[in-house]
Amino acid sequence: MALVKIREILDGKYSDQTVSVRGWVYRKRQGKELIFLVIRDSTGVIQCTVKKANAPTAWAEAEKLTIESSLTLEGTAKPDSRAPGGFEISAEAVSIIGLAEVFPIAKDKSEEFIRDMRHLWLRSRKMNLVMKVRAKVLEYAREYFEKTDFIEVSPPMFISAAVEGGSTLFGLKYFEQDLYLTQSSQLYLEILISSLENVYCIAPSFRAEKSRTIRHLTEYWHMEAEWPFSDMNDLMQFEEGLMEHICKRVYENCQNEFKELGADIAKLSQVTVPFPRITYAEAIDRLKAKNSSLKWGDDLGYEDEKILAEEFGKPFFVYDYPTVIKAFYCRTYRDRPEVALSVDMMVPRVGEISTGGQREEDKDILIQRIKEQGLKPEDYEWYLDLRRYGTVPHAGFGMGVERLLVWMLDLDNIIDAIPFPRTTRRFYP
Ligand code: ATP
Ligand code: MG
Repeated sequence: MALVKIREILDGKYSDQTVSVRGWVYRKRQGKELIFLVIRDSTGVIQCTVKKANAPTAWAEAEKLTIESSLTLEGTAKPDSRAPGGFEISAEAVSIIGLAEVFPIAKDKSEEFIRDMRHLWLRSRKMNLVMKVRAKVLEYAREYFEKTDFIEVSPPMFISAAVEGGSTLFGLKYFEQDLYLTQSSQLYLEILISSLENVYCIAPSFRAEKSRTIRHLTEYWHMEAEWPFSDMNDLMQFEEGLMEHICKRVYENCQNEFKELGADIAKLSQVTVPFPRITYAEAIDRLKAKNSSLKWGDDLGYEDEKILAEEFGKPFFVYDYPTVIKAFYCRTYRDRPEVALSVDMMVPRVGEISTGGQREEDKDILIQRIKEQGLKPEDYEWYLDLRRYGTVPHAGFGMGVERLLVWMLDLDNIIDAIPFPRTTRRFYP
């Protein structure tokens, strides 16, 4: 008898055959003569029936089963239009592997409680499906990087100087010294382009974000890339190509997951290059036309980004930001130093999902920019060395993996895009 995965049965591969499945009890309903069990494994859920008259030994075992008990169940897989998924197993044998105590989530399903029980909630269909789509998104991203001759690298998480602003920096004691957790791997990727040229990484970034929003975590996964001899146009072309590829591959291969999650997959088929591009100045004009009091030099907030994104209804770029709101490493226009060659990708409902730009390649301008931001050039000696020895124009970007998933899967909160979310209040388990 074949030990099979539930998905294979639902796909009709074992119709009217005897099968054995291993998994956990997802639901149970007991009548006088009949017990309905819904069994789940990693691949799906299937309804099983145990009849007292036909299988007395299996019945005795099934009676003892509690929600989330693990078991092996043998029986005949039959097409049944009344069963969710279209197939049912008529059980002939049931054997308990681990009898579960009363499962806490079965009783209390409040949002707060579910968050406290994260270690158990990860068994839910929702989390199971989100994690699968997440794995696919990472796979397809890597596929695109591979196809475009990028090399995956592994940057450090312990760092000695800030990348983004100091206000979101996590400090830590490293033996006798003060170190930080990385906020971005960008500066390290910049080191590596002089050796490997096109590089990328998918690694955690840490931000001490105090405000609780639906799009901020304190630890998130950052997909970053950097490459030499490139400009803003190359950058936007690459990023839209990457997005198009990921969306297309997810559209082709994750139909079942989206359907069960109730997420709109059709929007992914509309993601085609080229993406609309507007300048920051145009974004401000558009917002002013909608009664915003924003003026040139102000940073765009979440609400502003959402308003802009609503107009487009799909991913788009905003570029050419004011230098004053950008980090020291951003390249500026030589004839307009107040404008930085920086670009954000935005999507509906979430706003910004990536920031990228050209990096300042001139050593003297870079030193001046470091000083202007109240930072110490001595802390960036190795970064300045990259400009001393064979500097090249280069660009790169960083995209938040969880923000991408929030948009794709229509999630209400970023904490559902990662198995073990870290926020100001949550770090358990
Ligand atoms: P925001 O202004 O939305 O807080 P940011 O501009 O500070 O973001 P960047 O430094 O540009 O963020 O980081 C690059 C990308 O990383 C962002 O576009 C976003 O997708 C993601 N990201 C940044 N901070 C977080 C966070 N706290 N949680 C999850 N993703 C994040
Ligand atoms: Mg940004």
